[in-house]
Amino acid sequence: RSVMEKILQRKSSRMRNAQRAWQESPEGVKMVKFRTSLPAYKEKDRLLASIARNQVLVISGETGCGKTTQLPQYVLESEIETGRGAFCNIICTQPRRISAMAVSERVSMERGENLGETVGYKVRLEGMKGKNTHLLFCTSGILLRRLLGDRNLNGVTHVFVDEIHERGMNEDFLLIVLKDLLPRRRDLRLILMSATLNAELFSNFFGGAPTIHIPGFTYPVRAHFLEDILEITGYKLTSFNQIDDYGQDKLWKTQRQLLPRKRKNQITALVEDTLKKSTFESYSSKARDSLANWTPDCIGFNLIEAVLCHICRKERPGAALVFMTGWDDINCLRDQLKAHPLLGDPNRVLLLTCHGSMATSEQKLIFEKPPPNVRKIVLATNMAEASITINDIVFVVDCGKAKETTYDALNNTPCLLPSWISKASARQRKGRAGRVQPGECYHLYPRCVYDAFADYQLPELLRTPLNSLCLQIKSLQIGTIGEFLSAALQPPEALAVQNAVEFLKMIGALDEGENLTNLGRYLSMLPVDPKLGKMLIMGAVFRCLDPVLTVVSGLSVRDPFLLPQDKKDLAGTAKSRFSAKDYSDHMALVRAYEGWKDAEREGSGYDYCWRNFLSAQTLQAIHSLRKQFNFILKDVGLLDADSNTSNSLSHNQSLVRAIICSGLFPGIASVVHREKSMSFKTMDDGQVLLYANSVNAKYQTIPYPWLVFGEKVKVNTVFIRDSTGVSDSILLLFGGNLLKGEMAGHLKMLNGYIDFFMDPSLAECYWNLKEELDKLVQK
Ligand code: ADP
Ligand code: MG
Repeated sequence: RSVMEKILQRKSSRMRNAQRAWQESPEGVKMVKFRTSLPAYKEKDRLLASIARNQVLVISGETGCGKTTQLPQYVLESEIETGRGAFCNIICTQPRRISAMAVSERVSMERGENLGETVGYKVRLEGMKGKNTHLLFCTSGILLRRLLGDRNLNGVTHVFVDEIHERGMNEDFLLIVLKDLLPRRRDLRLILMSATLNAELFSNFFGGAPTIHIPGFTYPVRAHFLEDILEITGYKLTSFNQIDDYGQDKLWKTQRQLLPRKRKNQITALVEDTLKKSTFESYSSKARDSLANWTPDCIGFNLIEAVLCHICRKERPGAALVFMTGWDDINCLRDQLKAHPLLGDPNRVLLLTCHGSMATSEQKLIFEKPPPNVRKIVLATNMAEASITINDIVFVVDCGKAKETTYDALNNTPCLLPSWISKASARQRKGRAGRVQPGECYHLYPRCVYDAFADYQLPELLRTPLNSLCLQIKSLQIGTIGEFLSAALQPPEALAVQNAVEFLKMIGALDEGENLTNLGRYLSMLPVDPKLGKMLIMGAVFRCLDPVLTVVSGLSVRDPFLLPQDKKDLAGTAKSRFSAKDYSDHMALVRAYEGWKDAEREGSGYDYCWRNFLSAQTLQAIHSLRKQFNFILKDVGLLDADSNTSNSLSHNQSLVRAIICSGLFPGIASVVHREKSMSFKTMDDGQVLLYANSVNAKYQTIPYPWLVFGEKVKVNTVFIRDSTGVSDSILLLFGGNLLKGEMAGHLKMLNGYIDFFMDPSLAECYWNLKEELDKLVQK
């Protein structure tokens, strides 16, 4: 042991020498000067003293004051300086991969090192760290996964959990696990960092842990609401159609499509009426509510364009940051702006995008200074709200919305729709403009809508289905799910927990006693929704992986089939061309994707997409996700290195259909044929409707008794989106725990997939069983 100690001591003194050498170098001196100018520096000694004295500490401070880049670094530096560098092991979690990567890069640079030396990062499927890494930035998901295998976090000395104010599901989950761990690891230090001032909530959760606030300095930012913006830009909102521009957002289009005509007319009339009035203040509260519900996205790309033009023509120099709801919108808006004579001119405007899935090279551009006389405009999702700081922003354009999942435990139906942000978020967005000089913030909604915002956003734990989370809790072996979650900062409803447990039992991830099955164990290792994870596992076991990868990726990304409002019929026809009468949107997706791959090979991918109303960007995203899933399956040992065998049955359409069913169950609707019409019923919603763009919506009759579907969306009635027709026998064998008695035995076998890995011929036997059953049913 003492030999080990000696080695570490020697390493520690090398680390100290290197650190001092950098701090005394000319570059290092400059960096130190910058770093000491940050507000966090003033609190440095107090922070370090408090960390030494307390096991848990809560720190809050304005975005940009230096929490993320400085605090973990202070601890690292002080450990190195006191000759304990090689003994410390600091982890700092981030809610998003891109911030983990960007921050670790920045901190390495501040230390005059390359990434992967003392400072590294680790995110899903990627990482940069070495044996000398003592400060690791990772996503909260990665730390949770690490806790799965190493419940005591052996060797870790400090854990920083960043951006806890966002109340992400993983962060809330981490806090429960860490709270449980603290008594067992008296030496471990936990530091929670938050941007806004709800520090007490977290302090109370940890039995009154001390809190430190870092006072920040930001320049004043002037807020402009829609009413002022219309005046400033001279943009005229005269009718509903005009503010409908933002209807490029597909989701919003869907919402509108789904509205009954009467309601649509009412809303149109209301909006037209209210827009005629010169002031927004005069709305009755009822009209205001309706407006708040129904004009969100319709503020319009054209309006954003007008605001950006105004900034470029009339305003002082400084970069602009536009908050959008998602990737789709960002891309659409970028295309529109690129075509604009001023905003699309690369000599005058540097147009950049910032979202979770962009390439690293593109990320860096965001932080760089643009050439002289060129204005930088960054289109971003709400990740630019707190986790990423772009210093030179002077103008912020806030669309007022963010995409978030909402979940209604009663209906057990998740929806992913853009919804209004909270007052806290709006303040945060505005604050991004005042980092280096006084700024301007353009909120693209009337002041009265702002007044109706909630103070804070609901924690993710309370607005998403808990399926994945419950599976993780099970694999952590930390008590019953209910007990565990009741220890959360704000525990979810019992009904939501019960729904999740029922679901996990139904798909065979938990047995009747709520114990993890073999399937469950594998599912907990796959970082995807359990439904999709199950489909992947089944695709691998039954050797039809390729089409299944496409379906799973498509369901995780989004539908690549476009549905332009004015060409719905043409788009619908284009989509049906891929369906070849097999009554499946999922198969249509597989064909469309394969066709695209062929076209790409011949260099006509763009043309192909254009002809078929497909989004090349989405297909590209599906393409890269497929690769990632393939990698993960290999990683957890579900695929042989030789992947040829995994596709020996891919041509079997009926098998692929069965595998789709095995993943999507219990998303199942029965097809009820009446004379000339059809209706559909799910297990718990009663009657549901098919989404207009589904290939199955085109038929008078469907020769299958069941439709399996991936997603249902609740608007006024419940709609099911993509569906695939399946037979009775497929449903019986692949549907999950539908059967009792003798057949249930076969199902147990199916759900004990591990058998299949041992003996792949069992999969074939199983498939033969299906053929037998088919014959039986036909008799
Ligand atoms: P916080 O976590 O409190 O929001 P950060 O630690 O992320 O603050 O950032 C502190 C400061 O460091 C920022 O205000 C900015 O000046 C600087 N900074 C952070 N990241 C970068 C970067 N990638 N490039 C240049 N400067 C950066
Ligand atoms: Mg931060």
